[in-house]
Amino acid sequence: MAFWPSVVVATPAHSGVGATLTYRSELSLAPGTLVRVPLGAREVLGVVWECPTEAPEGLSEAQTRAVASVLEGLPPLNARWRQLVRFAAQYYQRSLGEVALAALPPQLRDLSTVQLARRLKKQQVARAGGASAPADAPGQHAPALSEEQHAALTALEAATAPVLLYGATGSGKTEVYLQATEHALQSQADAQALVMVPEINLTPQLEARFRERFEPLFGAGALVCLHSGMTPAQRLAGWLAAHTGQARIVLGTRMAVLASLPGLRLIVVDEEHDPSYKSQEGARYSARDLAVYRAKVESEALAAAATTTAPARCRVVLGSATPSLESWHAAEQGRYLRLSMPARIGGGALPRLRVVDMNHQPKGALLAPPLVAAMAERIARGEQCMVLLNRRGYAPVLACHDCGWKSACPHCSAYRVFHKLDRTLRCHHCGFTERVPRACPECGNLDIAPVGRGTEQLEEQLAGLLADVQRPDGGPARVARMDADSTRLKGSLEVQLATMHSGEVDVLVGTQMIAKGHDFRRITLVAGINADSGLFASDYRAPERLFALLMQAGGRAGRDAAFVTRQGSESELWVQTWTPQHPLFDALRRHDFPAFAAQQLAERESAGMPPFGHQALLRADARTQQAAQAYLNAAAQAADGLPHRNDITLYPAVPLTIQRVANVERAQLLVEAASRGALQRFLNAWQPVLLACRSLPEARGLVRFAVDVDPLAI
Ligand code: ADP
Ligand code: ZN
Ligand code: ZN
Repeated sequence: MAFWPSVVVATPAHSGVGATLTYRSELSLAPGTLVRVPLGAREVLGVVWECPTEAPEGLSEAQTRAVASVLEGLPPLNARWRQLVRFAAQYYQRSLGEVALAALPPQLRDLSTVQLARRLKKQQVARAGGASAPADAPGQHAPALSEEQHAALTALEAATAPVLLYGATGSGKTEVYLQATEHALQSQADAQALVMVPEINLTPQLEARFRERFEPLFGAGALVCLHSGMTPAQRLAGWLAAHTGQARIVLGTRMAVLASLPGLRLIVVDEEHDPSYKSQEGARYSARDLAVYRAKVESEALAAAATTTAPARCRVVLGSATPSLESWHAAEQGRYLRLSMPARIGGGALPRLRVVDMNHQPKGALLAPPLVAAMAERIARGEQCMVLLNRRGYAPVLACHDCGWKSACPHCSAYRVFHKLDRTLRCHHCGFTERVPRACPECGNLDIAPVGRGTEQLEEQLAGLLADVQRPDGGPARVARMDADSTRLKGSLEVQLATMHSGEVDVLVGTQMIAKGHDFRRITLVAGINADSGLFASDYRAPERLFALLMQAGGRAGRDAAFVTRQGSESELWVQTWTPQHPLFDALRRHDFPAFAAQQLAERESAGMPPFGHQALLRADARTQQAAQAYLNAAAQAADGLPHRNDITLYPAVPLTIQRVANVERAQLLVEAASRGALQRFLNAWQPVLLACRSLPEARGLVRFAVDVDPLAI
């Protein structure tokens, strides 16, 4: 008897190849089975989607090829995982193969059946060796919860809807995740939890907390990480451990949302407002939104299989001190259950806001004198400060004042940034790097000068301004910088964080990476320099982002209430701004996220913006801007007469803000609809049209196009 498995293989989004390919097999293969199949002259990894006993109509035996091999020893990917992948592909307008195969560890593609068997065996041996019986009683290391934490944990475990854990910075959200995870894992021997964080590398402290808590309880291999910073071998090992159920906890970044987790009972999305949950390439999925969908699918399956009236569920918790307006709105509507934890652990106060009006400061000053004085006072008392500037390098531009030359990137419509430490001009978009020229390349003038400020310059200036300040032990103030440049080398981030935690640094200067998640205990002052540069951007999400960033940054101050009291100090958040009258600062002063959210949502509602309206972008990359726009406008015209065309608005094509990157011209076209369903139905009808428009004469020079559903920036 023959079987005719339909197999999903990695196909580019718009290759025109159907969703699945039909092969032949002697054996019946369960859906979700991993196989290797011939494709052209190659042999590729595939996932069996269905396995009928009859050939699809019109297909003869001679036209199909046989499945080359089956990856034995690996259980099939289950139906819930396949449903998740199917949904993600459909919703984000990508091919099934692209999403399914991107969700698997890359190394799995290259392993033969034999190599895989060896790998699995090695993993089992390691497990048998390492699984010394968990020594400790459950919950031994967990601190007693505060009343607020306890109430939140109880409510979330009773919840049937997705939970929005709205907790102040330092309110102990992480402890709630830890205990919810512990309970979920203890409920059943094969239960698993997925904990997602925006950028795992930035917060090694969090991974350490999870390991410390769970390795004694569930064994050394109980926790695995999944993120793009891992080697291919590490990713494969982590994925296999999760897929086979050896790992009970997966701690990962957005990619982890697509991991195979057969026993999934809890999903945590920490800092759920963070833009890094939205993928910016390939299938542009939102890991937060997929997490909510995934929990629903898992819960429905558990309910369907249940024999009791109170079936187990898969819970999903979205946590933040400044939730995304989408999640906040969902909670307002009652679709999500909002649980609040307003108080900080230890009863400390949130930092007091000090707004500095830069219109009234000495001209050209990067730091206002009162801010410098406040920092000096704190350093002299043995407290730490943190200063945020969202621009790395020494200066964003190098310029010649004689002829007007500027350090433009030859490949992008952007300036190259001046890095003084290694005397380079670097493009932050394409990476193009050159030595700083000795003289102006245009006119030979020797006097070329930096314009504007970056973190390197801030560090240099602060060291100068604080040179005479003495610490309590008599030593001089120490300034350090942390940004993508200073942490490029492996392990350097950990070292820098450690010097901050141990008190070897008095002032930490850096980009927003220093604002995220860190539990620094001795910071009492945080300052945002140039805070409102984002507000001048045309992006309607700019206020939301700035508010979240400042709340997050402020959340690093005064985390240890006992320390602050002992010092007789008070924690402060300083903000330098040119627009002190912006309503955002009023809400920030009162730590009033609900008021800020209400005001923003009212604006969004009257403008029909998300979450009230729904958007997608059609993006085009081409060799010329003209070709990029011509393709987009042709695609818009060709949409006439499509089903649901009247339910949506198509805007004219426009160049991106940075319109050329690495010699590719970029343009986009906005699609708007009042309802998600209408937008989805239209996009589905439009997809083949987009493909067809590629071959129009006016689209010559088009490199690629992509649809971005629910885009974060327009
Ligand atoms: P968040 O994630 O909300 O910013 P954390 O979970 O990092 O807050 O908690 C802030 C600090 O309080 C951490 O140092 C943590 O160890 C401590 N903490 C949290 N919950 C408790 C508790 N129940 N008892 C004692 N300390 C706690
Ligand atoms: Zn010049
Ligand atoms: Zn460039």
